Amino acid sequence: MRAEDLLTLEREERRKRLQWSVVIRYLVITIVTLLSWVGSQFGASFFLPGILFAVAMALGVNLAFSYLYSLKNIHLGWAYAGVLVDMLIITTIVHFTGGITSVFLPLYLLQIVGTNVHFSKLAGPLNFLVGTISFVGLYLLERQGWLLHYTPFDVAPDLHTNVAYVAATGITLVTLMAVSTYRSGYVVRSLQKLETELAKANEDLVKANRAYQLSNQRLKDLDRMKTEFISVASHQLRTPLSGIKWALKMLMDHDAGPITENQADLLKKSYQSNERMIALINDLLDVSRIEEGRFTYVFREQELTPLVVELVDEMRHLAQPKQVSIVYEDAAKHLPLVNLDAQKFRLALQNLIDNAVKYTPATGTVIIRTYEDRGSVVTSIQDTGVGIPAEQQNHVFTKFFRGDNVMRMQTEGTGLGLFIARSVVQQHKGRIWFESHEGRGTTFYILLPATRPAVADQQDHFTHFVQSY
Ligand code: ADP
Repeated sequence: MRAEDLLTLEREERRKRLQWSVVIRYLVITIVTLLSWVGSQFGASFFLPGILFAVAMALGVNLAFSYLYSLKNIHLGWAYAGVLVDMLIITTIVHFTGGITSVFLPLYLLQIVGTNVHFSKLAGPLNFLVGTISFVGLYLLERQGWLLHYTPFDVAPDLHTNVAYVAATGITLVTLMAVSTYRSGYVVRSLQKLETELAKANEDLVKANRAYQLSNQRLKDLDRMKTEFISVASHQLRTPLSGIKWALKMLMDHDAGPITENQADLLKKSYQSNERMIALINDLLDVSRIEEGRFTYVFREQELTPLVVELVDEMRHLAQPKQVSIVYEDAAKHLPLVNLDAQKFRLALQNLIDNAVKYTPATGTVIIRTYEDRGSVVTSIQDTGVGIPAEQQNHVFTKFFRGDNVMRMQTEGTGLGLFIARSVVQQHKGRIWFESHEGRGTTFYILLPATRPAVADQQDHFTHFVQSY
């Protein structure tokens, strides 16, 4: 919050508090009018023209102040003028209702507490001073006979001349005014202190927030630059790696002349390392495309099973050397249609099956299932592998995560496959999750929302496809 805003707030607050004094004045007008009327009904002889004069004065003041307080900039001087006028009105009311014997003496207290709470630091002492002077002054003027003393109640017409009564009432009222001034002033000051501290804390918060936003923007810029750098570097690396791949392939195929067994073995190892490097570069490129929002999708409503059948068939050959068998249990099952970008979804599924094979020791099994579940199509990939350590499961979908257990096994990997898979599934408006027990195995699930049940002509195509499979 800027200092200017704080000032406006202060002005607004002051205006609100001053408007409250208008409300209190109306309250006093009502109380006085009502009590005077009720009193007269029960035999009190108030000097009604005097009371009406005081009430009219209060109404006039209220009208003037309501207008003043609605102005944009209220000069504090007006507020102090209000304090003086109010004391004058109260003293007038007290005068016409019996001076020191008036039932309206507590109005002095109301005035002190009321304005002290709703107005400013100086209002309390000012009220106290003016109140005491008015009250004592009125008494003295009436006593000297310079002002008429009204006796609304016949019960004790000489009460105002009784020293004990006058002393007790005078001391009590002045003491109460002093205590009220002090206590309400104390409360107001504590509140004001709190308010200032709060405004300051708020200002600090706004500053901290601005600094945070700046550094956040800077981090975003850096992140974007990093993604761009990876993207450019990966592109540059891909061409020479493809060159190396084909050169090695030619050498291995004896296109450049005969080679010894030893040389063939070395060439094979180089070829495999190069392939891993190409896979890494491809993953990095996919990740930077995802982060830059360039991983575009083309969706088509179709059945999922043919895609899984094809992929499993392809991957089964890769799993053979490891003696891990891949089983697709639901190859002949009919499923509702889903919206698919087949190429991207294949990539996600391939990553999951690849992981299942990679992290399952020899003679293990990977079971793939596809089934309908409450309007969705679920694919599960279950393995009997090493599992994911429980304490690391939270990080599984983050970039470059690799489990401690698989690192110890010295398996190859980039830690990017699941990040890519999750992004692809999310773009399909689906969900991906897993269950895993270390040493016992892992099951990954992908859920895709179904669009509608399989249609007839697609069923024919499907049956044909599965039969040929
Ligand atoms: P990569 O397999 O290249 O390391 P991924 O992002 O595909 O990267 O997987 C991240 C990590 O999650 C893996 O390194 C491994 O620790 C763990 N993981 C994923 N799938 C499995 C699985 N089927 N069994 C055990 N661990 C797995």
